[in-house]
Amino acid sequence: GIRFEKVVKRFGDNIVLRELNFTVAPGERVTLIGPSGSGKTTILRLLMTLEKLDDGVIWIGDRPLWHMPRGDGLAPANEKHLHEMRKQVGMVFQQFNLFPNMNVLRNLIEGPVRVLGLSKDEAVERARELLDMVGLVDKIDAHPTQLSGGQQQRVAIARALAMQPKVLLLDEVTSALDPELVVGVQDLLRDIARASDLTLLCVTHEMHFAKDISDRVLMFDKGQIVEEGPPEQIFGEPTEQRTRDFLQAIL
Ligand code: ATP
Repeated sequence: GIRFEKVVKRFGDNIVLRELNFTVAPGERVTLIGPSGSGKTTILRLLMTLEKLDDGVIWIGDRPLWHMPRGDGLAPANEKHLHEMRKQVGMVFQQFNLFPNMNVLRNLIEGPVRVLGLSKDEAVERARELLDMVGLVDKIDAHPTQLSGGQQQRVAIARALAMQPKVLLLDEVTSALDPELVVGVQDLLRDIARASDLTLLCVTHEMHFAKDISDRVLMFDKGQIVEEGPPEQIFGEPTEQRTRDFLQAIL
């Protein structure tokens, strides 16, 4: 699972997260919604260690991400600790972010070989299984530029799963896709989410996808949780005016 404990994140004078608290249980699937600038992407980037926190503690499982135990307190994490913690978290980005100079197979085996220490044969076997799952075995030698957006995103999903993360982060994964490709990628992710015990944190504006993929929705505004509940409740009968205004604006 994931736990944010009084997490503070600033960019200069802009306090993006103010003492944010929330927990995602192991295997739970949670969607973050809220207006632009409310801090959703920052939360994912903190979990990926692409941004550093200013205060508070982020826990992944029973270990702090940005800290190491010292005495009866916590000290800042060193690179070795961050490296160990990073293995537990995978992310799929809006813009796919495949390695542009590597074919599909190398995109899938690079991390498992270098970071997880798998043999090349093991990594190739796993890559084939994952490409089979996302329906792209026939593209194993293709270059990212030879693939459609939907195909690139399927490869990016397979690449994230190849690292066998405990936590998977999805950041607006279909918003750069042509409309006719969106549902296929969403259905794939829904099936993966339901079949696995991954802890999932998803940022999306697409209500039906959020309903499909999540157990719980957190509505953010200005770096705070305004309202939370099962998707049927948040989208069907939100209690907070800010949630109603937001949902009205995006529909
Ligand atoms: P969106 O839905 O538009 O992606 P969001 O809820 O994901 O919005 P964030 O991207 O987390 O919001 O941004 C939160 C705030 O942090 C915004 O005010 C943004 O301008 C600011 N911010 C994010 N990244 C940086 C950065 N690298 N430098 C300075 N400010 C940043």
